[in-house]
Amino acid sequence: MTQGGHIGASLVLACAIEHLAFRSTPGPGILVVGALLGNLPDFDALAAPFLGHRLGQRRLHHHRFVTHTPLLYLLLSLFIALFSPEWALRVGVLTLFHLVLDSWHTDDGVMWLWPLNKRQFSLWPYPAHAEGRFGWEFYRHHLRRPLALIPEMAFALSGGAVLAAAFG
Ligand SMILES: [Zn+2]
Repeated sequence: MTQGGHIGASLVLACAIEHLAFRSTPGPGILVVGALLGNLPDFDALAAPFLGHRLGQRRLHHHRFVTHTPLLYLLLSLFIALFSPEWALRVGVLTLFHLVLDSWHTDDGVMWLWPLNKRQFSLWPYPAHAEGRFGWEFYRHHLRRPLALIPEMAFALSGGAVLAAAFG
């Protein structure tokens, strides 16, 4: 899933959590925090320059980093639950859903069984980064595929609607 899809999906999910679990209408602040939490696994990108990874390289084999393992977020959520069950729920659901989306129609997928097994699982995988496709080249190619475009558009549009309702 691209960053736009992740942001849209996180906004929708953050809104759903507040409504369904806490019976409250989310304000802009909680939605922005939700969008950040839903993108937390990708924050490893910030460390890429310090690790010597250049653009165009298979960005640190991104999905094979600990930041894309369910165990990390299960443990993080359990730790947060010691202080706040509400925030544990938000962090757990939003980060794990990020991993679900990164397991959708991509080339490598997520190590759902790590550390027991390093196999990466992906639904409808395809060679998304074949022939050195990165950056805009990747997006142009990826978003021509209905299995990518439909969920990306659905999440981006519904996330936009959630934001418009919150700010409107
Ligand atoms: Zn990711």
